[in-house]
Amino acid sequence: MNLPYQCPDCGTELGYEGLCWRCRTAAQRRAAAAWTPAEIAAKEQEIIAQIDDVPNDFWYLLCREDSVAPAIPRAALAARTFWPPALYYHAPADVRDGLIAALMETEAAQEANELMMCLGMQGDDRALAALLALERAPRPWRGQLYVNPSVYAQCGGWTFDREGRRRTLNFDTCYPIVHAASAEELDRSPVRIARPREEHCPHCGSRMADMLVLDGRDARLQFLGIDGILTATCCPNCVAYAEPMLSRYTLDGGSTVLPYENADATAYMEELDTIFDNDLILGASPVPRFYGAFFDDVCTLGGFALWEQDWSYTTCPDCGQPMKYLMQIRWNELADYMEGTLYIEFCPACQVVSMQHQQT
Ligand SMILES: [Zn+2]
Ligand SMILES: [Zn+2]
Ligand SMILES: [Zn+2]
Repeated sequence: MNLPYQCPDCGTELGYEGLCWRCRTAAQRRAAAAWTPAEIAAKEQEIIAQIDDVPNDFWYLLCREDSVAPAIPRAALAARTFWPPALYYHAPADVRDGLIAALMETEAAQEANELMMCLGMQGDDRALAALLALERAPRPWRGQLYVNPSVYAQCGGWTFDREGRRRTLNFDTCYPIVHAASAEELDRSPVRIARPREEHCPHCGSRMADMLVLDGRDARLQFLGIDGILTATCCPNCVAYAEPMLSRYTLDGGSTVLPYENADATAYMEELDTIFDNDLILGASPVPRFYGAFFDDVCTLGGFALWEQDWSYTTCPDCGQPMKYLMQIRWNELADYMEGTLYIEFCPACQVVSMQHQQT
């Protein structure tokens, strides 16, 4: 391919003059990181003025602040804007009560659908009680929705069981995955992405991959509570076609793939081996938990995912509980021609990892 222009930041060939989408998003994120308090206050006013159709600056704000001024969810509720649900992340009690009142009143399934996501994002014990009440005594609109209120709560990174006991599914801490500046830095990283394994996939012949090898003993990763190594192994080809692929890890670095199917049995592609050449490592410092939840140019560990379709937490095959979300890998960070995202989850108690692919 010979395109007439190059991205001035990364050298990618382009059909137009200017930054590539990835460098443009990164540049805008850097600009947002440099906003002064006065500029932030002005952005908040702009967001409130456009609350009917929330501008991207809302996400740039969340990507740098981890929370937004209570005036934003208050304005959203007053305008009955329930999208995106992250507007209501940890919103104050008066806003929560307004959401609950709206949910209890509504007869429209679509509005109930959005309101339950918003309450998932608000996420406190009253939000839980409201969702639990609706799970126990469903309203007529429930028949038009696919899942229970406890699954809507997962939108906010948590859920509850039949007895109303809370279970946290996301980590508050988030790290970006970045490119190593040197071979030494690559060697030292406690997180490595896409390491080739010796064995090949029985279905398609691809080289099997440790999509993640993570040493939880690194000081940055203490928040995960993994006292050793977590390895996530799959076939990087079949994972795009199969149900979530599962593997078991042992803290000394062992990993075993659980049986999987690929009904489409697509052929092995040699280009896939380029994913093993990546230089992705764990970033030096944490970022806000929504850092990777809207802009799709970054891979992140912890925090919130950007689900390309609906959020979907894998059920642990051993204990039957939803797994904890661990990280997202954008395939095009590994190979330009690839699309979609790999989501990695794990069950710490059973030492099982899930890898699932989504794309729009
Ligand atoms: Zn670029
Ligand atoms: Zn395969
Ligand atoms: Zn389990």
